[in-house]
Amino acid sequence: MKNWVEVSERRLAGNYRLLQEAAGAETAVLAVVKANAYGHGAAVCAPVLARAGAEWLGVTDVAEGAAVREALAGAGISRGEQPEILVMSGLLREDAGDVIRHGLTPVVWLREQMEWLVEAAGQSGGVVMPVHVEIDTGMARQGVAPGEELEALLGWVKGQTALRVDGVMTHFASSEVAGSAQTVAQRKRFEEAMGAVVAAGLRPVWVHAGNSSTLDNQGGEGNVAWLRGLAAGVGAKSGVGAKSMVRTGIALYGYCLPIEGGGLNTVRRELQPVMTWKTRVIGVREVEAGETVGYNGIFVAERAMQLALLPVGYADGLRRELSASNARLGGWAMVRGQRVAIVGRVSMNLTVVDVSGIADVAVGDEVVVLGDGVTADDHARLAGTIAYEIVCGVQAAHRCGIAG
Ligand SMILES: *Cc1c(COP(=O)(O)O)cnc(C)c1O
Repeated sequence: MKNWVEVSERRLAGNYRLLQEAAGAETAVLAVVKANAYGHGAAVCAPVLARAGAEWLGVTDVAEGAAVREALAGAGISRGEQPEILVMSGLLREDAGDVIRHGLTPVVWLREQMEWLVEAAGQSGGVVMPVHVEIDTGMARQGVAPGEELEALLGWVKGQTALRVDGVMTHFASSEVAGSAQTVAQRKRFEEAMGAVVAAGLRPVWVHAGNSSTLDNQGGEGNVAWLRGLAAGVGAKSGVGAKSMVRTGIALYGYCLPIEGGGLNTVRRELQPVMTWKTRVIGVREVEAGETVGYNGIFVAERAMQLALLPVGYADGLRRELSASNARLGGWAMVRGQRVAIVGRVSMNLTVVDVSGIADVAVGDEVVVLGDGVTADDHARLAGTIAYEIVCGVQAAHRCGIAG
């Protein structure tokens, strides 16, 4: 294999448990496995998270949800023992039948979406479909606007015997910002919306909001305590009880944004990166001082060097911003626990690293492109982006069952 991702099941389960502990026993932690588990391989990660105790998994669409169901079954987890699966972003008419078939729970915010579900439920012999309604408290991406639009939707859904509003949720736009006025405003809108939900006579079991940073940003913020209080209030009024939940993605995989504005990260430092992206040396050569390396000759050897050629490049998700000229240091990889600098341009399928001074480097040797010693945060800093985009961008085969 030319390049591949090894997933540490131990670290993934450990991160999940750490997050669940930080959330507290009363608040569930939904494990997001969308985007192929942020590039880690959903088929590998979903069963690990289910076994670590996740009651809920989150995916982006119905196709991902179906694939996760299949992976869970393939891992020997019976349907009855599988977590619930929340389909978080967008439901089209043709998806409604698959929602029922795979026992998924869709996030909805448009009346049409619910009409398609009602229609599909009718065709499936009158099943009752659980849905979670998203409230748009300030992201302006998806969700129903609080106020008249929400009230009209609630009034309509109440009359639908084929639908059961099992959850109500929102998403925060600035959860990694300490003392964010936007988060405060969003919380207030969500509280008002929950008031309208209860007043309409609905009894949601799940009240959920936010992401990894919502949980991590606890320096005086108390997002989770707020959510827990809100769920308790909803439960008391509806008389059936309600449970709070926070939806974590990136933190499961060992990364989290730094809290902006002097706040505290609660769990970030204890998280462990789950992905090790590896490749193997396909060539070793010596160059003399004065020789140029790679496209456009942006790197000129200043002394005799030993270079190793790696079969990985930007087509695989290794960012071109990690290229190095003589004037600008770029990225690095790890060979036998030592840093080896990238030299010249990262190209589509090939990258050159400086292995001068590392004895006996040979064709076939394993190289860590991303993992211990070179993190997604390192790649993100050089590429001017966030760790999310780095891990999601890795295009490599996934190896399962790596325990380390
Ligand atoms: C992706 C996603 C999350 C998880 O976000 P992270 O920042 O990765 O923790 C939570 N909620 C929703 C609705 C999402 O789409």
